[in-house]
Amino acid sequence: MNVFALITNPTEAIPLTEDIFYSRTNRKPPYIQSFGGKMNSYALCPSCQNPVLMVNRTATETRSGSFYAKHNKGDVPGVAQYHEHKYLNCPLANPARMDEKKRRPPARQGQSDEVKNALIE
Ligand SMILES: [Zn+2]
Repeated sequence: MNVFALITNPTEAIPLTEDIFYSRTNRKPPYIQSFGGKMNSYALCPSCQNPVLMVNRTATETRSGSFYAKHNKGDVPGVAQYHEHKYLNCPLANPARMDEKKRRPPARQGQSDEVKNALIE
């Protein structure tokens, strides 16, 4: 997701950029926490009030500097407790993975190959 919320106002959706996140949280705990020897950044989901983890793809995947938040499936001390049922009903949760499992049943594999072959021919 590209919005986040603060503990002080958990329903206000703030547009998420690295600059805004750091200026609003002052780079301080509990938003910044060391976890397993790694510094992680946390905030809240403005929709379901579950904790979210900040992910910066710049370092690992692209150079576009995309900074985004994903639901953290576990309690984050000082930020929020994780509530599974709220997460499952959250409109900001990414449903793509669930859909992916349904989208490709093995029975349909043959069918799409047929279509592909027809297009090639
Ligand atoms: Zn949510």
